[in-house]
Amino acid sequence: MEKKLKHLGILAQFEMSNYLTKEPFKGHSFIYPSVAGGKIIPIFKILLSNYCKFNCLYCANRKDRDCPRYRLSPDFLAETFFNFWKKNYVAGLFLSSSIDGDVNEIQEKIIETAKILRKKFNYPGYIHLKILPGADPYLIKKASIYADRLSLNMETVSTTLLKKISKEKDFSKSLLKTLKNLSIINQERGLKSGITTQFIVGSENEKDKDILGFSFYLYRNLKLRKIYYSGFSPVPATPLENKTPCEFKRILRLYQADTLIRKYGFRSDEIIFDEEGNLDKDKDPKEKWAEKNPSFFPVEITKDDFEILIRVPGIGFQTAKKIIKVRKETKITPEILKKIGVRKKSFQYITVSGKNIVEENNEKEDEF
Ligand code: SF4
Repeated sequence: MEKKLKHLGILAQFEMSNYLTKEPFKGHSFIYPSVAGGKIIPIFKILLSNYCKFNCLYCANRKDRDCPRYRLSPDFLAETFFNFWKKNYVAGLFLSSSIDGDVNEIQEKIIETAKILRKKFNYPGYIHLKILPGADPYLIKKASIYADRLSLNMETVSTTLLKKISKEKDFSKSLLKTLKNLSIINQERGLKSGITTQFIVGSENEKDKDILGFSFYLYRNLKLRKIYYSGFSPVPATPLENKTPCEFKRILRLYQADTLIRKYGFRSDEIIFDEEGNLDKDKDPKEKWAEKNPSFFPVEITKDDFEILIRVPGIGFQTAKKIIKVRKETKITPEILKKIGVRKKSFQYITVSGKNIVEENNEKEDEF
């Protein structure tokens, strides 16, 4: 049984929602540190089954791949997780599954596991359940009773791209439709940790522009809490085993641009792409935007609104909040700005009481 758990736990790491690292947590071979509600917690990430009737080209669990297969029962999994939780090995559950037969039947089993935990064991902690493509809306509603977070993996951003990596899945009728149902139920019930999705980046020739355009749509229209960008990594004995892995820098820039859209009020058409529709891998997307919009600057640090301050490269959400607080209490100076975390690179974009700090600093240096 230990072998089954370990194997299904390792395979669940291909599932990147809440992903933080591929390294196991404090020596437990199938417990991984993840992010939930902004906190780092050891999450028990596991598949109920890795038998799959589909053949997605990139996937370790695809039907034609020769690998050990296991499935667990909801009773066993609930009890095992609960014992780990009681011993403080884990602080939350993330439960997914391959498509082991009928979608609704396997979805029922995922929900059943959560139900046993809540009803039989009175487990009060974090549960993230995966919703499978095409799952009945009734089951999504049922899952929302027990879960803090629900997610469905879109994998990519268009019908054409999906067809290249997964013949059996249907982008509009199955994936997007199910995600829309999730969104409706989330807006009705207000899931504590919201709904999320994941894209695999770099398995095909998708462009950052298309990814972020679709992300913008999902955040604005379906009210997703978060989107995960999982860099493609080739899995041995799959048709894509010789494909180049996605560069870490690409994922980093996607997350930075995503933050601009999700938290900083940028529209997707304000993000700057190269001629091929990709982000500059060597520069922060906010700096790229600032370069293209010189007329927006300088920003007056003693007066301008929060929404303006956070557009300055090097001034993040927390720093902008501190600026607003401090300027109510005292006269802002360059020294105070440095103390509260404004980075040197920001100085070229701001004025303090009408004065350009970079010029002032240069003048001071010239005096010596
Ligand atoms: S549906 Fe596709 S991605 Fe999901 S487990 Fe099966 S083969 Fe893998």
